[in-house]
Amino acid sequence: MQTWQIGNVRIDRVVEFEMPLIPPLALYPAATPEAIERHKHWLEPRLMDPESGLLVLGIHSYLIRSRNHTILVDACSGNDRPRPNKLRYHMKQWPYLENLAKTGVALEDVDYVLCTHLHVDHVGWNTRLVDGRWVPTFPNARYLFARAEWEYWREHYKTEQFRDDPYYKDSILPIIEAGQFELVESDYAFDDEVRLDPSPGHTPGHVCVHIRSGGQEAVMSGDLMHHALQCAEPDWSSCFCVDPAHSARTRREFLGRYEGTPVRILTAHFPTPTAGTIVRAGGAWRFRFEGE
Ligand SMILES: [Zn+2]
Repeated sequence: MQTWQIGNVRIDRVVEFEMPLIPPLALYPAATPEAIERHKHWLEPRLMDPESGLLVLGIHSYLIRSRNHTILVDACSGNDRPRPNKLRYHMKQWPYLENLAKTGVALEDVDYVLCTHLHVDHVGWNTRLVDGRWVPTFPNARYLFARAEWEYWREHYKTEQFRDDPYYKDSILPIIEAGQFELVESDYAFDDEVRLDPSPGHTPGHVCVHIRSGGQEAVMSGDLMHHALQCAEPDWSSCFCVDPAHSARTRREFLGRYEGTPVRILTAHFPTPTAGTIVRAGGAWRFRFEGE
């Protein structure tokens, strides 16, 4: 398991899975075969699988333990989910809860669950299937949703096209029905060590999680970027971005803010070692993975 200590705050990475997952030209509509060819030398084999040509992505949560709180950030895709239109998440049986148990934290110990945004691969373990019913996985947790994020998806799921999407029904609705749901502003502070940073674009209420303690700093960047390619190509927004132009602006602003600093970036989808720092390179940026 990967663990980071930021001052008084301990952070563990809880992995659901990590594998070659998506073709770069599908994930990034603005990418071209020539551009991928140009980047290949630093992508293969760890960040892009040479055999399949797929980008390697990780799906994981971060468990934060500050002096005051135990907070789970992002909830992956979950088990037992019918996802006929997204087979990479369909009816899976990942050992996620076993991996979580290795942190020494029990489900009852989690005080807060915070999804950086409400996409299908960030909300799954909000719930689990018990005796045929979807129940909150963390019985004592408050589940915080950024207000702007919730208001967007609430309207989205009223539309005919998405009304029957199972992920709203199995991963979000049961939290609301259990009364464990709470709306917060996008700059909400858990305490003086852990707070949210608004980072809209990928989705309207997307938030990063900022940790500052004992003179050290880390940021969980969520889907502000899915892959290290976007440091080199910051204008490549993903096919999942609700507002691609806004997403690119937010990404450029983020990369510029942290370039050349020791602030540890804890990414939502970069494969192991997952964390690193931002450095300026060739008119754009490079993600320097830990240990490089
Ligand atoms: Zn997303």
